[in-house]
Amino acid sequence: MVDLHNYIATVKNYPEPGISFRDISPLMGDGVAYRQAINAIADFAKDLNVDLIAGPESRGFIVGSPLAYTMGIGFVPARKGGKLPRKAIQSTYELEYGGVNVLEIHEDAIQPGQRVLIVDDLLATGGTINATREIIEKLGGIVAGVAFIIELNDLNGRDKIMSSGEVPFLSLMTY
Ligand code: IMP
Repeated sequence: MVDLHNYIATVKNYPEPGISFRDISPLMGDGVAYRQAINAIADFAKDLNVDLIAGPESRGFIVGSPLAYTMGIGFVPARKGGKLPRKAIQSTYELEYGGVNVLEIHEDAIQPGQRVLIVDDLLATGGTINATREIIEKLGGIVAGVAFIIELNDLNGRDKIMSSGEVPFLSLMTY
């Protein structure tokens, strides 16, 4: 086992002064660390009775796709607004550094009653995950759990997620 902390690059004052950006690129770029992170999430998911993995664009795809492949289940992308070709359900949310964003999921991507695990590289304020969750629940899906490579403690994203209803939670590292 490797220490995954050694594969996170911290970029001070990015994307704006006073922010320390946690970059998972070194982790993704290393086969052993990447596989270890994905396998740890798969281990968390194995008792959650998961039908589908969902992840927000774009780093949620980097976590969610190999996880879905490993688990032998499907992956549902929550895409940024205006990119999906067919009818989609959307949710608008506020970004950590200001401004708003739109996420969309094809309306036939999740069937009522399906259990969906939401994953992303990093949890900050929780806005991205709650928007993804809102769409999944509008479609009749059940959030089976949420999992992240990194959780930023000071921004209380975990509380924000749980305020929409308690769900099983995993973060591989906290800062
Ligand atoms: P939230 O919606 O405030 O929880 O922000 C989380 C989203 O923004 C995730 O999709 C992350 O990819 C991205 N994000 C926010 N801060 C960072 C960071 O420090 N490193 C990498 N991604 C970040």
